Amino acid sequence: MRRKLAAGNWKMNGLAAQLTELEAMKPAAATQQTDVLICTPATLVSRAVDAAAGSTIAVGGQDCHANASGAHTGDISGAMLADAGATYVITGHSERRVDHAETDAIVAAKSEAAYANDLVAVICIGESLDERESGKTLDVVGTQLAGSTPAGATGANTVIAYEPVWAIGTGKVPTLEQIGEVHDFIRTQLVERFGAEGEAMRVLYGGSVKPSNATEIFAVSNVDGALVGGASLKADDFNAIITALDAA
Ligand code: PEP
Repeated sequence: MRRKLAAGNWKMNGLAAQLTELEAMKPAAATQQTDVLICTPATLVSRAVDAAAGSTIAVGGQDCHANASGAHTGDISGAMLADAGATYVITGHSERRVDHAETDAIVAAKSEAAYANDLVAVICIGESLDERESGKTLDVVGTQLAGSTPAGATGANTVIAYEPVWAIGTGKVPTLEQIGEVHDFIRTQLVERFGAEGEAMRVLYGGSVKPSNATEIFAVSNVDGALVGGASLKADDFNAIITALDAA
């Protein structure tokens, strides 16, 4: 039985005042079945951990470097995130794949760095609109999954987030059939490669999840939760998503 996960990605949003929103998520996060995670900008990780005290809300980073330390100006290591109190880190978000030319091999190396620091890697994969429209979705997702997920992935150290690039921040959402097709495919691939650990890995859907569409998305097979961008910035919206997931 996989625990559900409601994960928020604040992207490059949030100053200290935004932490009042995280504090306002504490009551909704006190569920029995659903884990709650907020991935803040690196500058807020330590203060978010303090703000989450007394709750079950986990705090994560949005990226980490593959190396443990060294001459990488502006980068953050897995050890630094863990030292700040993070327990998760997003790797391979499509915005980083595009903005920073991150390849599957780089994403796999970053995910290994996460494991080395006892961080759960939330590994993101997903097709572009062109790839969807030309019928390449499963090929693209399969290649990214295989190339971005390290051999040492387990149900405890890895979460997969299926995020169609064209659905992120656009308000466009795949049909429930399309989501189900990709999630079932990901599950099959994970089980073929990792056996029982592949069965235990959580697979999140991400891309314009909102309170108004959460319940129907969470009813789709092999959807174990969501990675949420815009709707994780406001406690009212994210609390409704947590509640919908907990009820699914
Ligand atoms: C994301 O940032 O991963 C995301 C899914 O964003 P949004 O929910 O805003 O589409």
